Amino acid sequence: MPALSHPPVFLDFATAVVAQGKIQAAIDKGSSIPEGWMLDASGSPTTDPTEQRRGGVMLTFGKHKGYCLSFLVEILSGGLTGASCGPLPAYRPDYATVMMAVNIAAFQPLDEFRQLVDEMIAATKASARAPGVEEILVPGEPEWRRREVRLRLGVDIPEPAWQRIVEAGARCGVVVTVWRWANDGPESRENEGGMMSDSLDLGTIKLDLVLDRYGEVDGNQVFCPATQEEWSPGLDLNERGALRVMSNALLINADGQLTLVDTGWGEAIGWGDAQAPQHTHGVLNSLARLGVAAQDIQRVILTHAHGDHVCGNTIQRDGRWVSAFPRAEYVIQRTEAEAARRDEETWRVAFEPLTESRQLRTISGWSEIGPTVACWPTPGHTIGHQSVLIRSSQRQVLFVGDLAVLAKNMERLEWGHSWAWSLDADRTSRREVAEWAIANRSVLIIGHDPERPMVSLERAGEGYRAVPLPRRGITQEG
Ligand SMILES: [Zn+2]
Repeated sequence: MPALSHPPVFLDFATAVVAQGKIQAAIDKGSSIPEGWMLDASGSPTTDPTEQRRGGVMLTFGKHKGYCLSFLVEILSGGLTGASCGPLPAYRPDYATVMMAVNIAAFQPLDEFRQLVDEMIAATKASARAPGVEEILVPGEPEWRRREVRLRLGVDIPEPAWQRIVEAGARCGVVVTVWRWANDGPESRENEGGMMSDSLDLGTIKLDLVLDRYGEVDGNQVFCPATQEEWSPGLDLNERGALRVMSNALLINADGQLTLVDTGWGEAIGWGDAQAPQHTHGVLNSLARLGVAAQDIQRVILTHAHGDHVCGNTIQRDGRWVSAFPRAEYVIQRTEAEAARRDEETWRVAFEPLTESRQLRTISGWSEIGPTVACWPTPGHTIGHQSVLIRSSQRQVLFVGDLAVLAKNMERLEWGHSWAWSLDADRTSRREVAEWAIANRSVLIIGHDPERPMVSLERAGEGYRAVPLPRRGITQEG
């Protein structure tokens, strides 16, 4: 039912006490079901969901009224579609579906109807509440709210259901891209905790993306100066018209050392906070899931001094900001550190504690950081922006920081972030990196891109195409 200012009111339910999906979920989890959902083949109540496979039947809701409704729905869906009905021999257990729509304007002016729905919602929400009831919801409202959370954090899929999806894909020759969360429970699901299994195995070198959190950006900002018609094809916009992004650090395990590139938002304020007010240090949480503690990190390389990349440098202890990685040296371009000094809040939270503990090391220009890792200046997004090069005998990899917010920035090099310190320098750096990536068949890691965080580049006409790498446990051979 369309409303005027509210999302549509809707109702979606099975005539069984619960949807079949809930029985399946109980089977998948190996848990029992409440009494009153199902009868076994002998007609006795059961709490064992697997009885369904042995002739058990689901009960309808609402006693005789639900039974009558169920009977009518069965005739409508089975009879009108030709799929026949459950108890009959000719029944084909397809998803027979009947849809009916009502043309509201044939009865009442549409706007008036929508106005009425708004008023009905307002009146219902304003009604007297029983003690202990905080809010009155209207039909569909829990689902709209759930949708918000799902769009932000993804959808949880029980492992057995996921296996069935993968197997069904494999039977049809579909290569399944793994996009998996490793969550411990509802607590970490509701916050931004959770970890992508994006990793790159290069023999003696191992790279892991370390998720800080999800957020959103305005495409017009990221793809400046393109118009929305130009930049939007192939990209999913959320209901606010924004692009979903993630914020990732990179863990480099090479030369017997653990290096972290960027540190995320840490405990500081940043995008996404409106939706996740109790922010915890996402990078530390994700590192813990990889079995890495803060004191294991020997080096932190900072691509640039924007909040989503450096606020996690520190944590609060007894009201003071202190280094989050107590044994690490923090490496940043000198010009970047000097610019960061002018942003008092960022400097106070993310850098001052590091100067006090003598952990901050500034470098100038191209710098070899170890046998495997080098800092490659890619100015433009900020004055001292740098990318991080990882050399292996198999393949070279570059973590590009905000040189590209999304992989599409590497396809259209002229589109860059409108906040860039210099749009021209930003483009020049992107072109340099793109040509190098093609010449060396290198991998680019784009930490903000939730769909294509690791890509290789190919030429495509005048421009480039970013080809995503498979998303789990990859070994590159030659
Ligand atoms: Zn960023």
